[in-house]
Amino acid sequence: MPLRGFIDVFKPYVNHNAFRTFLKNERMSYSPNHPDLTTWLSIDSSTDFPVQNLPFGIFSTEDRSERPGVAIGQYILDLQLLDEAGMLDLEAPYFELETLNTFFSYGRKEITRVREQISRLLTGENKQLKDHNDREAFFVLQSEASMHLPFHIGDYTDFYSSEDHARNVGTMFRDPDNALLPNWKHIPVGYHGRASSIVVSGTPIHRPKGQTLPADSTTPVYGPSRLVDFELEVAFVTCGENTLGNPITLDQTEEHIGGIMLFNDLSARDIQKWEYVPLGPFLAKNFGSILSPWVVTLDALEPFRLESPVQDDPTPLPYLKYQGKGHFDIVLEVAITEENGQTTKICTSNFKYMYWNMFQQLAHQTVNGCNVRTGDIYASGTISGPEPTSYGSMLELSWRGTKPIKLASGNERKFLADGDTCILTGYAKKDGVRIGFGPCSFTLLPAKS
Ligand code: MN
Repeated sequence: MPLRGFIDVFKPYVNHNAFRTFLKNERMSYSPNHPDLTTWLSIDSSTDFPVQNLPFGIFSTEDRSERPGVAIGQYILDLQLLDEAGMLDLEAPYFELETLNTFFSYGRKEITRVREQISRLLTGENKQLKDHNDREAFFVLQSEASMHLPFHIGDYTDFYSSEDHARNVGTMFRDPDNALLPNWKHIPVGYHGRASSIVVSGTPIHRPKGQTLPADSTTPVYGPSRLVDFELEVAFVTCGENTLGNPITLDQTEEHIGGIMLFNDLSARDIQKWEYVPLGPFLAKNFGSILSPWVVTLDALEPFRLESPVQDDPTPLPYLKYQGKGHFDIVLEVAITEENGQTTKICTSNFKYMYWNMFQQLAHQTVNGCNVRTGDIYASGTISGPEPTSYGSMLELSWRGTKPIKLASGNERKFLADGDTCILTGYAKKDGVRIGFGPCSFTLLPAKS
């Protein structure tokens, strides 16, 4: 049949839009999250970064300065080189830059699109990288790279959204029968923190000094904090902006959250106790907050979403009323490595223990018209679960210092000691796929003299 005749026969069936939908479905049928996907690259089986993860970060090497990369197994795939070699289709040449801000400013759809391109290159679905005659040149061993903050962080909010944490704190400092304040189940409570003191995992922090009120005294003293604590948190980063005066509604929030990281909101409890009345946390919270370097995309976490718990006692106001899978099943752990090298796991919690989810937090953050910008960090608040072993801070684990935590060495801790390294880890696991975050750790150095 001549071509013209062929087209005429099929013309009635080939509706242009239907054909476009068909092509789109063909493209959509590739899922970077499929558990059967493997990479042609030889990677460690125990890795946090299988081909289903592909988190973005900023790294440098001895010979070259900061640039974007993707973690794959024990390697980093250099996105700047990959783009220079013409293997990526990007909205703009943002992988030439030293932060992920511009990339993420193009929004969730662009993150999804680029992650899929990288996935195709690493699985061999697209053979350009696999068949490249110098393909090793695109990879750097993570052990030979330094990681940096993934974003220029303009603003930082810390929420207080784990019910068990809020109840524990309320029970300790107020009244067990009235542990939650009246606003808690109506508002995702939070405060504006300080962005300048957020540092990347691995940055040592000196024990802070400040004002504290000694027991049985009415006069404060100045000196090193005695009660330095970690807070086990998860932070999300915003992608794309809203303009001042225009809230991001709950159903728009999915488009504005690019990914999540582990976050340790270091806290000096004695400084906090004296200073927080009546305006909340201040110098107890801005001597160093630790962020993990790899941004795990919401896309990679899609398989681990959980139905959000019913909130009906009380029901939140309509702008916060969430139905659907807004929670995530992510195991979170904290370990302490003492100066002698011994490591003890001291807590196992889960991101699913949140009351308010990230989408509600972002809707609330902007409900008054507050504008968010790409690269802003929004931390969950300490994530505690119902069991005493799942509490996400030393304050709760040692119950205000009344129940010291036994370490493997036989030593005890009520709060962090000089020389302790505190390590947060997180992973989601299902169908043989384990999506990890890499460590979020820091070492506490003695106070400066
Ligand atoms: Mn916090």
